[in-house]
Amino acid sequence: MSYEEVTNLALRRGFYFPTSEIYPNSPGGFWEFGPIGERIRQNVLAMWRKELVRKEEFFEISGSLILSENVFMASGHLESFNDPIVQCKKCHSLFRADKLIEEKTGENVPESLSEKELNEKIRLSGAICSKCKSNEFGECRKFNMMIGTNIGATGENKCYLRPETCQNIFLDFQRVYKISRKNLPIGIAQAGPAFRNEIAPRNTLLRERELGQMEVEIFFNPNKINEVENWEEVKDYELNLLQVGKKEIEKVSCEKAVNEKIVSGRLVAYYLARVQQLYEKYGFKNENMRFRGLEKEERAFYAKETWDFEVKTSLGWVELIANNYRGDHDLKGHSKGSKTDLSVNEDGEKYLPHVFEISAGIDRTVYAVIENSYRKEMKNNEERVYLSLPKKIAPYSVAIFPLVKKDGIAEKAREIWKELNNKNLEVLYDEKGSIGRRYARVDEIGVSFAITIDYQTLEDDTVTLRERDSTIQHRIKTYDIISKIGE
Ligand SMILES: [Zn+2]
Repeated sequence: MSYEEVTNLALRRGFYFPTSEIYPNSPGGFWEFGPIGERIRQNVLAMWRKELVRKEEFFEISGSLILSENVFMASGHLESFNDPIVQCKKCHSLFRADKLIEEKTGENVPESLSEKELNEKIRLSGAICSKCKSNEFGECRKFNMMIGTNIGATGENKCYLRPETCQNIFLDFQRVYKISRKNLPIGIAQAGPAFRNEIAPRNTLLRERELGQMEVEIFFNPNKINEVENWEEVKDYELNLLQVGKKEIEKVSCEKAVNEKIVSGRLVAYYLARVQQLYEKYGFKNENMRFRGLEKEERAFYAKETWDFEVKTSLGWVELIANNYRGDHDLKGHSKGSKTDLSVNEDGEKYLPHVFEISAGIDRTVYAVIENSYRKEMKNNEERVYLSLPKKIAPYSVAIFPLVKKDGIAEKAREIWKELNNKNLEVLYDEKGSIGRRYARVDEIGVSFAITIDYQTLEDDTVTLRERDSTIQHRIKTYDIISKIGE
Protein backbone atom coordinates (compact mmCIF):
# COMPACT_ATOMS: atom_id res chain seq x y z
CA MET A 1 0.00 0.00 0.00
CA SER A 2 1.09 3.56 -0.55
CA TYR A 3 0.01 7.03 0.50
CA GLU A 4 -1.24 7.66 -3.06
CA GLU A 5 -3.40 4.54 -3.12
CA VAL A 6 -4.99 5.43 0.21
CA THR A 7 -5.60 9.01 -0.91
CA ASN A 8 -7.15 7.83 -4.19
CA LEU A 9 -9.46 5.50 -2.33
CA ALA A 10 -10.39 8.22 0.18
CA LEU A 11 -11.31 10.64 -2.61
CA ARG A 12 -13.07 8.02 -4.77
CA ARG A 13 -15.24 6.82 -1.91
CA GLY A 14 -15.56 10.24 -0.32
CA PHE A 15 -13.93 9.37 3.03
CA TYR A 16 -12.49 12.88 3.07
CA PHE A 17 -11.93 15.60 0.50
CA PRO A 18 -10.76 19.24 0.34
CA THR A 19 -12.97 21.93 1.90
CA SER A 20 -14.80 24.22 -0.59
CA GLU A 21 -13.20 22.29 -3.41
CA ILE A 22 -15.62 23.76 -6.00
CA TYR A 23 -14.05 27.19 -5.42
CA PRO A 24 -10.62 27.86 -6.80
CA ASN A 25 -8.02 29.35 -4.45
CA SER A 26 -9.60 27.95 -1.31
CA PRO A 27 -6.83 27.69 1.28
CA GLY A 28 -5.31 24.23 1.67
CA GLY A 29 -5.08 22.28 4.88
CA PHE A 30 -8.85 22.06 5.47
CA TRP A 31 -10.62 18.73 4.94
CA GLU A 32 -14.23 17.57 4.98
CA PHE A 33 -15.16 14.13 6.22
CA GLY A 34 -17.73 12.48 3.97
CA PRO A 35 -20.32 9.93 5.14
CA ILE A 36 -17.96 6.93 5.34
CA GLY A 37 -14.97 8.86 6.67
CA GLU A 38 -17.12 10.48 9.34
CA ARG A 39 -18.33 7.08 10.52
CA ILE A 40 -14.73 5.90 10.81
CA ARG A 41 -13.75 9.13 12.58
CA GLN A 42 -16.63 8.77 15.06
CA ASN A 43 -15.59 5.18 15.74
CA VAL A 44 -11.96 6.19 16.32
CA LEU A 45 -13.21 8.75 18.81
CA ALA A 46 -15.60 6.28 20.46
CA MET A 47 -12.75 3.81 20.97
CA TRP A 48 -10.62 6.53 22.63
CA ARG A 49 -13.56 7.42 24.86
CA LYS A 50 -14.26 3.82 25.83
CA GLU A 51 -10.71 2.52 26.24
CA LEU A 52 -9.02 5.57 27.72
CA VAL A 53 -11.44 8.21 29.01
CA ARG A 54 -13.99 5.87 30.61
CA LYS A 55 -11.61 3.19 31.87
CA GLU A 56 -9.30 5.75 33.48
CA GLU A 57 -12.24 7.72 34.94
CA PHE A 58 -11.23 10.90 33.17
CA PHE A 59 -13.65 13.83 33.07
CA GLU A 60 -14.52 14.98 29.58
CA ILE A 61 -15.38 18.59 28.82
CA SER A 62 -16.23 20.55 25.70
CA GLY A 63 -14.85 24.08 25.62
CA SER A 64 -14.88 27.11 23.34
CA LEU A 65 -12.81 27.26 20.18
CA ILE A 66 -12.10 30.98 20.55
CA LEU A 67 -10.11 32.17 23.54
CA SER A 68 -8.94 35.60 24.57
CA GLU A 69 -5.44 36.91 23.89
CA ASN A 70 -4.67 36.93 27.64
CA VAL A 71 -4.88 33.16 27.67
CA PHE A 72 -2.13 32.84 25.10
CA MET A 73 -0.04 35.54 26.68
CA ALA A 74 -0.05 33.46 29.88
CA SER A 75 0.39 30.10 28.15
CA GLY A 76 3.43 31.33 26.23
CA HIS A 77 1.92 30.76 22.80
CA LEU A 78 2.04 34.41 21.72
CA GLU A 79 5.74 34.41 22.45
CA SER A 80 6.76 30.90 21.49
CA PHE A 81 4.24 29.10 19.25
CA ASN A 82 6.32 29.82 16.19
CA ASP A 83 7.57 28.10 13.10
CA PRO A 84 10.71 29.32 11.41
CA ILE A 85 9.95 30.35 7.83
CA VAL A 86 12.13 31.29 4.92
CA GLN A 87 11.40 32.67 1.47
CA CYS A 88 12.93 31.73 -1.87
CA LYS A 89 14.65 34.86 -3.19
CA LYS A 90 13.79 34.08 -6.79
CA CYS A 91 10.15 32.94 -6.85
CA HIS A 92 9.13 34.10 -3.32
CA SER A 93 7.73 30.69 -2.30
CA LEU A 94 7.56 30.27 1.48
CA PHE A 95 8.95 27.26 3.28
CA ARG A 96 9.32 26.04 6.81
CA ALA A 97 13.03 26.36 7.41
CA ASP A 98 13.28 23.23 9.56
CA LYS A 99 11.37 21.09 7.04
CA LEU A 100 13.49 22.42 4.17
CA ILE A 101 16.62 21.19 5.94
CA GLU A 102 15.05 17.94 7.13
CA GLU A 103 13.90 17.02 3.64
CA LYS A 104 17.36 17.61 2.23
CA THR A 105 19.43 15.96 4.95
CA GLY A 106 17.06 13.62 6.80
CA GLU A 107 18.15 14.99 10.17
CA ASN A 108 15.73 16.21 12.85
CA VAL A 109 16.07 19.96 13.20
CA PRO A 110 15.57 21.14 16.82
CA GLU A 111 12.83 23.72 17.43
CA SER A 112 15.13 25.80 19.55
CA LEU A 113 17.61 26.84 16.84
CA SER A 114 17.98 30.57 16.34
CA GLU A 115 17.24 32.23 13.00
CA LYS A 116 20.97 32.67 12.52
CA GLU A 117 21.72 28.98 13.08
CA LEU A 118 18.92 28.05 10.69
CA ASN A 119 20.27 30.35 7.95
CA GLU A 120 23.62 28.65 8.30
CA LYS A 121 22.11 25.16 8.24
CA ILE A 122 20.07 25.91 5.11
CA ARG A 123 23.20 27.10 3.33
CA LEU A 124 25.24 24.06 4.41
CA SER A 125 22.48 21.56 3.58
CA GLY A 126 22.37 22.63 -0.06
CA ALA A 127 18.55 22.82 0.08
CA ILE A 128 16.84 24.10 -3.03
CA CYS A 129 13.43 25.66 -3.71
CA SER A 130 11.02 22.92 -4.77
CA LYS A 131 9.24 25.35 -7.13
CA CYS A 132 12.06 27.03 -9.07
CA LYS A 133 15.14 25.02 -7.97
CA SER A 134 16.97 28.15 -6.79
CA ASN A 135 19.26 27.71 -3.80
CA GLU A 136 19.07 31.33 -2.70
CA PHE A 137 16.92 32.00 0.31
CA GLY A 138 16.21 35.14 2.32
CA GLU A 139 16.69 35.39 6.08
CA CYS A 140 14.72 33.06 8.34
CA ARG A 141 12.11 34.60 10.59
CA LYS A 142 9.78 33.27 13.27
CA PHE A 143 6.15 33.11 12.26
CA ASN A 144 3.42 32.76 14.90
CA MET A 145 1.09 29.94 13.90
CA MET A 146 -2.02 31.02 15.77
CA ILE A 147 -5.02 32.23 13.78
CA GLY A 148 -6.37 35.43 15.27
CA THR A 149 -9.76 37.08 15.16
CA ASN A 150 -11.43 40.13 16.66
CA ILE A 151 -14.58 39.93 18.74
CA GLY A 152 -17.07 42.73 19.33
CA ALA A 153 -18.62 45.38 17.03
CA THR A 154 -15.45 47.45 17.02
CA GLY A 155 -13.20 44.41 17.21
CA GLU A 156 -11.99 45.62 20.60
CA ASN A 157 -11.36 42.10 21.87
CA LYS A 158 -8.36 40.40 20.34
CA CYS A 159 -8.81 36.61 20.38
CA TYR A 160 -7.35 33.48 18.82
CA LEU A 161 -8.71 30.19 17.60
CA ARG A 162 -7.25 27.68 20.01
CA PRO A 163 -4.05 26.13 18.63
CA GLU A 164 -4.46 23.11 20.93
CA THR A 165 -7.48 21.81 22.81
CA CYS A 166 -5.69 21.63 26.15
CA GLN A 167 -5.86 25.33 27.08
CA ASN A 168 -9.57 25.03 27.96
CA ILE A 169 -8.63 22.17 30.26
CA PHE A 170 -6.12 24.28 32.18
CA LEU A 171 -8.61 27.15 32.40
CA ASP A 172 -11.35 24.82 33.65
CA PHE A 173 -9.12 22.79 35.98
CA GLN A 174 -10.13 24.48 39.21
CA ARG A 175 -13.86 24.10 38.60
CA VAL A 176 -13.68 20.49 37.37
CA TYR A 177 -11.38 19.55 40.27
CA LYS A 178 -13.85 20.97 42.78
CA ILE A 179 -16.83 19.09 41.40
CA SER A 180 -14.84 15.87 40.84
CA ARG A 181 -14.99 14.91 44.55
CA LYS A 182 -11.58 13.33 44.14
CA ASN A 183 -8.03 13.87 45.21
CA LEU A 184 -5.36 14.15 42.53
CA PRO A 185 -4.50 12.61 40.19
CA ILE A 186 -7.43 13.48 38.00
CA GLY A 187 -7.54 13.48 34.22
CA ILE A 188 -9.54 15.95 32.16
CA ALA A 189 -10.22 15.09 28.53
CA GLN A 190 -11.42 17.01 25.52
CA ALA A 191 -11.90 16.20 21.85
CA GLY A 192 -12.43 18.81 19.17
CA PRO A 193 -10.76 21.00 16.59
CA ALA A 194 -7.65 23.13 16.95
CA PHE A 195 -6.30 25.62 14.42
CA ARG A 196 -2.81 26.35 13.17
CA ASN A 197 -1.71 28.63 10.37
CA GLU A 198 0.58 26.02 8.81
CA ILE A 199 2.84 27.43 6.13
CA ALA A 200 2.85 24.26 4.10
CA PRO A 201 -0.12 22.01 4.86
CA ARG A 202 0.34 18.71 3.10
CA ASN A 203 -0.33 14.98 3.06
CA THR A 204 -4.11 15.39 3.51
CA LEU A 205 -4.98 14.60 7.13
CA LEU A 206 -1.37 14.53 8.31
CA ARG A 207 -0.62 18.25 8.31
CA GLU A 208 -3.72 20.41 8.44
CA ARG A 209 -4.67 23.94 9.42
CA GLU A 210 -7.81 22.74 11.18
CA LEU A 211 -7.03 19.51 13.00
CA GLY A 212 -9.01 17.25 15.27
CA GLN A 213 -7.44 16.53 18.63
CA MET A 214 -8.37 14.15 21.41
CA GLU A 215 -6.45 15.19 24.47
CA VAL A 216 -6.12 14.28 28.10
CA GLU A 217 -4.36 16.32 30.77
CA ILE A 218 -3.58 14.41 33.93
CA PHE A 219 -3.06 16.61 37.00
CA PHE A 220 -0.99 15.10 39.76
CA ASN A 221 1.13 15.75 42.81
CA PRO A 222 4.79 15.65 41.64
CA ASN A 223 5.80 14.14 44.99
CA LYS A 224 3.46 11.25 44.31
CA ILE A 225 4.39 10.55 40.69
CA ASN A 226 5.08 6.92 41.67
CA GLU A 227 1.72 6.35 43.36
CA VAL A 228 -0.32 4.75 40.59
CA GLU A 229 -3.47 2.86 41.55
CA ASN A 230 -3.41 0.20 38.84
CA TRP A 231 0.35 -0.14 38.51
CA GLU A 232 0.21 -3.95 38.83
CA GLU A 233 -1.79 -4.14 35.61
CA VAL A 234 0.99 -2.61 33.51
CA LYS A 235 4.26 -3.17 35.35
CA ASP A 236 5.30 -6.10 33.16
CA TYR A 237 3.81 -4.66 29.98
CA GLU A 238 6.47 -3.82 27.42
CA LEU A 239 6.72 -0.41 25.78
CA ASN A 240 8.44 0.02 22.42
CA LEU A 241 10.92 2.76 23.21
CA LEU A 242 13.32 4.59 20.97
CA GLN A 243 15.33 6.45 23.54
CA VAL A 244 17.27 9.64 22.91
CA GLY A 245 20.66 8.81 21.48
CA LYS A 246 19.76 5.21 20.58
CA LYS A 247 19.35 3.76 17.12
CA GLU A 248 17.18 0.73 17.87
CA ILE A 249 13.71 0.38 19.31
CA GLU A 250 13.85 -1.61 22.56
CA LYS A 251 11.08 -3.45 24.36
CA VAL A 252 11.19 -2.15 27.92
CA SER A 253 8.79 -3.18 30.65
CA CYS A 254 7.09 -0.32 32.49
CA GLU A 255 8.82 -1.42 35.67
CA LYS A 256 12.26 -1.30 34.04
CA ALA A 257 11.55 2.07 32.43
CA VAL A 258 10.88 3.48 35.89
CA ASN A 259 13.72 1.69 37.71
CA GLU A 260 16.28 2.77 35.13
CA LYS A 261 14.90 6.31 35.12
CA ILE A 262 14.10 6.16 31.41
CA VAL A 263 10.85 7.92 32.29
CA SER A 264 10.17 10.40 35.12
CA GLY A 265 8.05 7.99 37.11
CA ARG A 266 5.36 5.34 37.22
CA LEU A 267 2.61 7.72 36.18
CA VAL A 268 4.36 8.38 32.87
CA ALA A 269 5.06 4.71 32.15
CA TYR A 270 1.49 3.79 33.10
CA TYR A 271 -0.10 6.13 30.59
CA LEU A 272 2.38 5.27 27.83
CA ALA A 273 1.26 1.66 28.30
CA ARG A 274 -2.39 2.68 28.04
CA VAL A 275 -1.64 4.57 24.82
CA GLN A 276 0.12 1.59 23.22
CA GLN A 277 -2.74 -0.70 24.28
CA LEU A 278 -5.30 1.67 22.75
CA TYR A 279 -3.49 1.60 19.41
CA GLU A 280 -3.32 -2.19 19.50
CA LYS A 281 -7.12 -2.01 19.56
CA TYR A 282 -7.04 0.28 16.52
CA GLY A 283 -5.37 -2.62 14.73
CA PHE A 284 -1.67 -1.69 14.75
CA LYS A 285 0.84 -4.48 15.05
CA ASN A 286 3.23 -4.21 17.94
CA GLU A 287 6.28 -3.83 15.68
CA ASN A 288 4.67 -0.88 13.88
CA MET A 289 4.41 1.30 16.98
CA ARG A 290 7.03 3.14 18.98
CA PHE A 291 7.58 5.95 21.46
CA ARG A 292 10.36 8.25 20.35
CA GLY A 293 12.05 10.18 23.13
CA LEU A 294 12.68 13.79 22.21
CA GLU A 295 15.80 15.73 23.08
CA LYS A 296 15.38 19.01 24.88
CA GLU A 297 15.96 21.04 21.72
CA GLU A 298 13.31 19.09 19.86
CA ARG A 299 10.58 19.36 22.47
CA ALA A 300 7.77 21.90 22.58
CA PHE A 301 8.58 24.94 24.69
CA TYR A 302 6.43 23.75 27.62
CA ALA A 303 7.65 20.15 27.85
CA LYS A 304 10.09 18.64 30.39
CA GLU A 305 9.85 15.18 28.88
CA THR A 306 8.27 14.10 25.60
CA TRP A 307 7.55 10.72 24.06
CA ASP A 308 6.13 11.02 20.57
CA PHE A 309 3.96 8.01 19.82
CA GLU A 310 4.61 7.07 16.20
CA VAL A 311 3.29 4.42 13.84
CA LYS A 312 4.94 3.06 10.74
CA THR A 313 3.26 4.14 7.48
CA SER A 314 4.18 4.23 3.80
CA LEU A 315 5.53 7.74 4.48
CA GLY A 316 7.80 6.49 7.27
CA TRP A 317 7.17 6.88 10.99
CA VAL A 318 4.35 9.34 11.59
CA GLU A 319 3.68 11.02 14.93
CA LEU A 320 0.11 10.51 16.14
CA ILE A 321 0.45 11.57 19.77
CA ALA A 322 2.66 13.88 21.77
CA ASN A 323 2.97 12.58 25.32
CA ASN A 324 4.30 15.56 27.23
CA TYR A 325 5.30 16.00 30.82
CA ARG A 326 4.39 19.69 31.07
CA GLY A 327 5.39 20.19 34.71
CA ASP A 328 3.56 23.13 36.30
CA HIS A 329 4.13 25.34 33.24
CA ASP A 330 0.45 25.80 32.44
CA LEU A 331 -1.12 26.27 35.86
CA LYS A 332 1.73 28.53 36.89
CA GLY A 333 1.29 30.67 33.79
CA HIS A 334 -2.47 30.94 34.19
CA SER A 335 -2.21 31.57 37.94
CA LYS A 336 0.03 34.50 37.21
CA GLY A 337 -1.81 35.74 34.11
CA SER A 338 -5.27 35.63 35.70
CA LYS A 339 -4.15 36.46 39.24
CA THR A 340 -6.08 33.39 40.40
CA ASP A 341 -4.47 30.87 42.70
CA LEU A 342 -4.77 27.54 40.89
CA SER A 343 -2.90 25.48 43.48
CA VAL A 344 -4.65 22.71 45.39
CA ASN A 345 -4.69 21.93 49.08
CA GLU A 346 -4.73 18.24 49.92
CA ASP A 347 -3.93 16.57 53.25
CA GLY A 348 -2.31 19.73 54.51
CA GLU A 349 -0.07 20.08 51.48
CA LYS A 350 -0.57 23.09 49.22
CA TYR A 351 0.98 22.81 45.78
CA LEU A 352 0.61 23.52 42.09
CA PRO A 353 -0.24 20.28 40.30
CA HIS A 354 1.98 18.98 37.54
CA VAL A 355 0.54 17.86 34.24
CA PHE A 356 1.12 14.86 32.02
CA GLU A 357 -0.52 15.22 28.65
CA ILE A 358 -1.64 12.70 26.03
CA SER A 359 -2.30 14.83 22.99
CA ALA A 360 -3.52 12.70 20.09
CA GLY A 361 -4.42 13.73 16.56
CA ILE A 362 -7.83 12.37 15.54
CA ASP A 363 -7.47 12.97 11.81
CA ARG A 364 -3.94 11.59 11.76
CA THR A 365 -5.15 8.52 13.58
CA VAL A 366 -7.97 8.12 11.04
CA TYR A 367 -5.46 8.28 8.19
CA ALA A 368 -3.09 5.82 9.86
CA VAL A 369 -5.90 3.38 10.72
CA ILE A 370 -7.14 3.40 7.11
CA GLU A 371 -3.67 2.96 5.66
CA ASN A 372 -2.85 0.25 8.18
CA SER A 373 -5.93 -1.74 7.13
CA TYR A 374 -5.48 -1.29 3.37
CA ARG A 375 -5.08 -4.67 1.61
CA LYS A 376 -4.62 -5.53 -2.03
CA GLU A 377 -4.73 -9.06 -3.42
CA MET A 378 -5.32 -10.96 -6.65
CA LYS A 379 -8.52 -12.97 -6.63
CA ASN A 380 -9.71 -14.86 -9.75
CA ASN A 381 -7.30 -12.79 -11.85
CA GLU A 382 -8.78 -9.59 -10.56
CA GLU A 383 -7.32 -7.14 -8.13
CA ARG A 384 -9.30 -6.87 -4.93
CA VAL A 385 -8.88 -3.96 -2.52
CA TYR A 386 -10.34 -4.09 0.96
CA LEU A 387 -9.97 -2.37 4.30
CA SER A 388 -9.37 -4.89 7.04
CA LEU A 389 -10.68 -2.53 9.71
CA PRO A 390 -11.26 -3.77 13.28
CA LYS A 391 -15.00 -4.42 13.78
CA LYS A 392 -15.37 -1.50 16.16
CA ILE A 393 -13.87 0.91 13.62
CA ALA A 394 -15.64 -0.34 10.47
CA PRO A 395 -18.15 2.22 9.12
CA TYR A 396 -20.85 -0.47 9.00
CA SER A 397 -21.00 -3.89 10.64
CA VAL A 398 -22.99 -5.41 7.85
CA ALA A 399 -24.34 -4.70 4.36
CA ILE A 400 -27.68 -6.06 3.12
CA PHE A 401 -28.02 -6.91 -0.58
CA PRO A 402 -31.19 -8.16 -2.26
CA LEU A 403 -30.06 -10.33 -5.19
CA VAL A 404 -32.72 -8.73 -7.39
CA LYS A 405 -35.34 -6.07 -6.75
CA LYS A 406 -38.37 -8.06 -7.93
CA ASP A 407 -40.55 -10.91 -6.58
CA GLY A 408 -40.60 -9.61 -3.02
CA ILE A 409 -36.86 -10.03 -2.49
CA ALA A 410 -36.14 -6.32 -1.95
CA GLU A 411 -39.05 -6.16 0.53
CA LYS A 412 -37.63 -9.12 2.46
CA ALA A 413 -34.16 -7.50 2.46
CA ARG A 414 -35.63 -4.24 3.73
CA GLU A 415 -37.34 -6.17 6.51
CA ILE A 416 -34.05 -7.72 7.62
CA TRP A 417 -32.35 -4.32 7.38
CA LYS A 418 -34.95 -2.85 9.70
CA GLU A 419 -34.67 -5.70 12.18
CA LEU A 420 -30.88 -5.46 12.42
CA ASN A 421 -31.03 -1.68 12.59
CA ASN A 422 -33.37 -1.96 15.57
CA LYS A 423 -30.78 -4.17 17.25
CA ASN A 424 -28.35 -1.22 17.15
CA LEU A 425 -26.20 -2.63 14.40
CA GLU A 426 -24.84 -0.24 11.78
CA VAL A 427 -26.39 -1.63 8.62
CA LEU A 428 -25.90 -0.51 5.04
CA TYR A 429 -28.52 -1.26 2.39
CA ASP A 430 -27.66 -1.40 -1.30
CA GLU A 431 -29.77 -2.76 -4.15
CA LYS A 432 -27.97 -1.18 -7.12
CA GLY A 433 -25.75 -3.00 -9.62
CA SER A 434 -24.37 -6.53 -9.73
CA ILE A 435 -23.67 -8.44 -6.53
CA GLY A 436 -19.97 -8.59 -7.44
CA ARG A 437 -19.77 -4.80 -7.72
CA ARG A 438 -21.63 -4.37 -4.48
CA TYR A 439 -19.21 -6.71 -2.68
CA ALA A 440 -16.27 -4.79 -4.14
CA ARG A 441 -17.66 -1.50 -2.93
CA VAL A 442 -18.27 -2.59 0.66
CA ASP A 443 -14.86 -4.28 0.75
CA GLU A 444 -13.25 -0.96 -0.17
CA ILE A 445 -15.01 0.91 2.62
CA GLY A 446 -14.25 -1.83 5.15
CA VAL A 447 -17.74 -3.18 5.96
CA SER A 448 -17.16 -6.31 8.06
CA PHE A 449 -19.90 -8.58 6.59
CA ALA A 450 -22.33 -8.70 3.68
CA ILE A 451 -25.62 -10.56 3.55
CA THR A 452 -27.38 -11.52 0.34
CA ILE A 453 -31.10 -12.20 0.20
CA ASP A 454 -32.26 -14.38 -2.70
CA TYR A 455 -35.10 -16.69 -3.81
CA GLN A 456 -34.09 -19.36 -1.34
CA THR A 457 -34.53 -16.85 1.50
CA LEU A 458 -38.23 -16.66 0.69
CA GLU A 459 -38.47 -20.46 0.92
CA ASP A 460 -36.40 -21.43 3.97
CA ASP A 461 -35.47 -18.14 5.68
CA THR A 462 -31.73 -18.53 5.05
CA VAL A 463 -29.30 -15.94 3.70
CA THR A 464 -25.73 -15.91 2.41
CA LEU A 465 -23.28 -14.33 4.87
CA ARG A 466 -19.94 -13.25 3.43
CA GLU A 467 -16.92 -12.33 5.49
CA ARG A 468 -14.94 -9.34 4.22
CA ASP A 469 -11.35 -10.48 4.78
CA SER A 470 -11.64 -14.13 3.79
CA THR A 471 -14.58 -13.67 1.35
CA ILE A 472 -15.84 -17.02 2.69
CA GLN A 473 -19.60 -17.43 2.35
CA HIS A 474 -21.93 -19.37 4.63
CA ARG A 475 -25.59 -20.17 4.29
CA ILE A 476 -27.21 -19.34 7.61
CA LYS A 477 -30.67 -18.89 9.12
CA THR A 478 -31.75 -15.24 9.39
CA TYR A 479 -32.19 -15.58 13.16
CA ASP A 480 -28.51 -16.58 13.40
CA ILE A 481 -27.23 -13.40 11.73
CA ILE A 482 -26.56 -11.49 14.94
CA SER A 483 -24.80 -14.34 16.73
CA LYS A 484 -22.62 -14.97 13.65
CA ILE A 485 -21.43 -11.40 13.18
CA GLY A 486 -20.98 -10.77 16.87
CA GLU A 487 -21.97 -7.61 18.64
ZN1 LIG B 1 11.85 29.42 -5.75
